[in-house]
Amino acid sequence: RLEIRNMRRSFGDRRVVDDVSLTIQPGQVLCLLGPSGCGKSTTLRMIAGVDMQDSGEIYVDGALICDTVFRIPPERRQIGLMFQDFALFPHLSVADNVAFGLKGSKDEKRARVVELLDKVNLSWAIDQFPHRLSGGEQQRIALARALAPRPRIMLMDEPFSGLDNRLRDEIRDHTLSLLKEEDTAVMLVTHEPEEAMRMADEIALMRDGRIVQQGAPYNVYNKPVDREAVAFFSDVN
Ligand code: ATP
Ligand code: MG
Repeated sequence: RLEIRNMRRSFGDRRVVDDVSLTIQPGQVLCLLGPSGCGKSTTLRMIAGVDMQDSGEIYVDGALICDTVFRIPPERRQIGLMFQDFALFPHLSVADNVAFGLKGSKDEKRARVVELLDKVNLSWAIDQFPHRLSGGEQQRIALARALAPRPRIMLMDEPFSGLDNRLRDEIRDHTLSLLKEEDTAVMLVTHEPEEAMRMADEIALMRDGRIVQQGAPYNVYNKPVDREAVAFFSDVN
């Protein structure tokens, strides 16, 4: 379970994230949805530990991992990351890419790599190098790599935006079922209402650094909080 409380972040005198509190349960997908520049990626970066909040606390499964005085480093937060520029390591094979964040014996690592490549249907690519694979295949390898250390939380920042439409739907569905299988709590950042409607168990609508509405996709879509929310959702069919 991921819980963030009263998170704030300013750049200069601009408050970019303003008192954001959210909770995500294991197996749940929360979409942080909002227009460009509203503070989504900044929120995610603080949770990942690559940026530091001015105030607020982050908890994973009830344990404090970061506040303004105490800070567990990114690699020990049990948080997986998937970003749009999901760059695999070009000089490493698919197997070594997926094994990258793993600890344990060589055999244990190999077993986990084999298991994950099977889950993303890319067993055949185990000894390939990334440049030989299609965009969609690379995306699935990136997912396997992110899931390999069994993170409790997965943070995804527009991870599907580089893919063409047909491939995107397929990979979205596949990704969702894998994440549910692993019982991961997911925060998915997007500026596309359509993506949030498709993927979210819960939508948190963000604007100017604040969460202005939160709830099940159906409710957020059907009972927009104000005119601006109506306009924002108007491009969903
Ligand atoms: P998008 O949908 O375009 O990715 P976003 O909601 O992810 O937008 P953020 O990347 O969180 O937006 O940025 C929020 C605001 O904070 C933007 O106006 C951005 O220019 C500003 N910002 C982000 N990082 C920094 C930084 N390191 N220094 C100064 N300003 C920053
Ligand atoms: Mg962003």
